[in-house]
Amino acid sequence: MVAQEPPPTQEPAPAKEPAPAKEPAPIKRKRLDLEEEVTVIVGSTKTHFTVPKCFLTKSSEFFKVCCNGTWKEAKSKTVELPEYGVYIFTVYLQWLRNHRKRLAYRQYPPHLALAIFADSLGDTTFGNAVIDAILRLRDNTNALPRIGCIKELFIRLPKSAGLRRLWVDRVVTSADPEGLVQDKDVMLRCPEMVFEMMLKAMKIRNGEPCEPPTFKQRCKYHEHNDKVPKCA
Ligand SMILES: [Zn+2]
Repeated sequence: MVAQEPPPTQEPAPAKEPAPAKEPAPIKRKRLDLEEEVTVIVGSTKTHFTVPKCFLTKSSEFFKVCCNGTWKEAKSKTVELPEYGVYIFTVYLQWLRNHRKRLAYRQYPPHLALAIFADSLGDTTFGNAVIDAILRLRDNTNALPRIGCIKELFIRLPKSAGLRRLWVDRVVTSADPEGLVQDKDVMLRCPEMVFEMMLKAMKIRNGEPCEPPTFKQRCKYHEHNDKVPKCA
């Protein structure tokens, strides 16, 4: 018996490539982003704020990592900020909702707490807005924070912080010597601050220009990087 050759097999038809997934329409995507919300629990009172994720991640490196990374906060969509006051977070939220423009608060202690908050959040744009608010207030009232308030900045903020430089410039260019004598005890508790003041005074003696800080020179005290371009 002669074995019959098997009939030639047909070439299988080439599989159709799956159609590429359609990108959602931009408007729809925007709505989805706005709908994605994060719960922020603030302060010792554990006050809950429900905030669109796209607001929180706009310029804060901390929230970007928290909400988008592999942290448990990204899964639970809950972030806790126990060490900050409700008032501070409310000011930040208002600034976010106001398209991250002008801050209009007229008290120094909140400003200084806001500067520390901005640093903790890694929000350079917000930190610069706080500097602007302090300088506007300075231009309008000729006042800057008292040393008792500013000491905290030298403990909590990095050496490069604009607010530290702003305060040192203010003291060496326009502080009243009698006022400094009155503040002696506070200054001695913060040797870093005294050192920076002495260093600046020596630089000025050697010819480095330095004027009392004003809003016009605000960019001198800002922080800028590849995500926060220099002011126009
Ligand atoms: Zn600037």
